[in-house]
Amino acid sequence: MSLVTLKEVLENARSKKCAVGNFDVFNLEMLRGVMEAAEESRSPVILAYAEPFEAFADIRHYAKLLLSYAEQASVPVVLHSDHSVSLEEIQRVLDNGFTSVMIDASDKSFEENVEITRKVVEMARPYGASVESEIGHVSGLNTLFENDCNVFTDPQSAKKFAEETEIDALAVSIGNVHGVYQKAPDIQFGLLEELNTTVPIPLVLHGASGICDEDMVQMVKGGIAKVNYYTDLCLAASECMKQQEGKHYLDTSQKIVEAIKKVVLEKMLLLKES
Ligand SMILES: [Zn+2]
Repeated sequence: MSLVTLKEVLENARSKKCAVGNFDVFNLEMLRGVMEAAEESRSPVILAYAEPFEAFADIRHYAKLLLSYAEQASVPVVLHSDHSVSLEEIQRVLDNGFTSVMIDASDKSFEENVEITRKVVEMARPYGASVESEIGHVSGLNTLFENDCNVFTDPQSAKKFAEETEIDALAVSIGNVHGVYQKAPDIQFGLLEELNTTVPIPLVLHGASGICDEDMVQMVKGGIAKVNYYTDLCLAASECMKQQEGKHYLDTSQKIVEAIKKVVLEKMLLLKES
């Protein structure tokens, strides 16, 4: 069985000084594209499911599909929830066989964030699942958060947060944002270096779509062990649909799988080579 926890794949990535790709997938085309790329590049993979996807892919049915792909895979696969903001969602994904969860209370005060994250760690333990949380705030999710301003991660707070919550991975804000970058991202490499030496657990980069290859390689070398992609997958699918205008849906569906596979494969090879 190739279904594994986030903790397992990130420890392995850290020891090899490379990173594992996290890809948010809400349908079969995305799932197939990601899994075909993982098999072809022999890469471990994190399949992520975000709370807003509930409207498109009911977790009670969709989790079975994700689990089936994970169990048949020849590479390690993590089933992970991305940016869960409610404990109900955390419980739902754990009950549906996920091996990892992310709780995002990064818009709350330090104390509240610790309290909510601790609760999630306690919920995940009986399932043997891993937990990721965020401190500082990576903006660009204004549908989830009222106050969505980018706040860099402070190294000392991050260290304290990791120790008090006992999480397995920490999402950091170092100039990265979610969605399409309006101007070239200004990654704070000095801050990353400080975080990497201060924080004892693997670091996670959200909003990786749109970051150039050179910066990404440097960040992986600098301690990023998990890299989240979503926007690039959506852009590849949308571009493909434009080119397929007037074609039969069956043909278009296959082309979308291929377009997503292509972009994911590029990311996986980049993370491996870093
Ligand atoms: Zn994110």
